[in-house]
Amino acid sequence: MVQSREWKSGIAWKEPAKVDPGEAPAPTPIPSDAVILFDGSNLDAWEHARDGGPVQWAIEDDAMTVAGGGDIRTKQAFGDVQLHIEWASPETVRGSGQSRGNSGVFFMDVYEVQILDSYDNSTYFDGQAGAVYKQSPPLVNASRGPGQWQSYDLIFERPRFDANGQVQTPAYMTVFHNGVLIQNRLALQGGTHYDEPPTYAAHEDALPISLQDHGNPVKFRNIWVRELKLGDADRQE
Ligand code: MG
Repeated sequence: MVQSREWKSGIAWKEPAKVDPGEAPAPTPIPSDAVILFDGSNLDAWEHARDGGPVQWAIEDDAMTVAGGGDIRTKQAFGDVQLHIEWASPETVRGSGQSRGNSGVFFMDVYEVQILDSYDNSTYFDGQAGAVYKQSPPLVNASRGPGQWQSYDLIFERPRFDANGQVQTPAYMTVFHNGVLIQNRLALQGGTHYDEPPTYAAHEDALPISLQDHGNPVKFRNIWVRELKLGDADRQE
């Protein structure tokens, strides 16, 4: 197999300072207007990202665990959203760098916020937990240790394309990691790729949210999303 060549931005980021976010709280309550993507009972909201087939990931103790077979995606498509997701990297630490507790949240197939065990695990800063992959490191490293529950609260604003498929307004990402702001309405440069620089390619206004299978048994629980109506046209009579 030909290994694709890794692309790096060449930017020398400083290491994000470590912030202790405190003890993991109980699962965050679900707002009444949220679409529940996973409440511990079943994987009905999800399908295989490659072919739309059933998801094989295991459910135990109200959590689902990456169990091979590839990425999964929501059956429902979303545009602008507020997403809440709780995750835990494996309690038994294996591997290092990008091979330790790697998963990820993808919006619209191509915009990834990295999930990684970034507690005493060095890697490139724009690839650590909470990074918009290869575009921006988190403002700080608010990671909890392996096996502990962590949360992301993400606000994703989809890009807007004109009739010719050119980007008019970029995508924006805001992320709280364990309640700590780590991305502040970051303007994305395009899709987040391993082997090529970020670029925009026009796509639908609503697409699934995906979770990455990077071969590490990362756990998830309490996943819900609120659809946002951010345009003035949506708010005026
Ligand atoms: Mg990843």
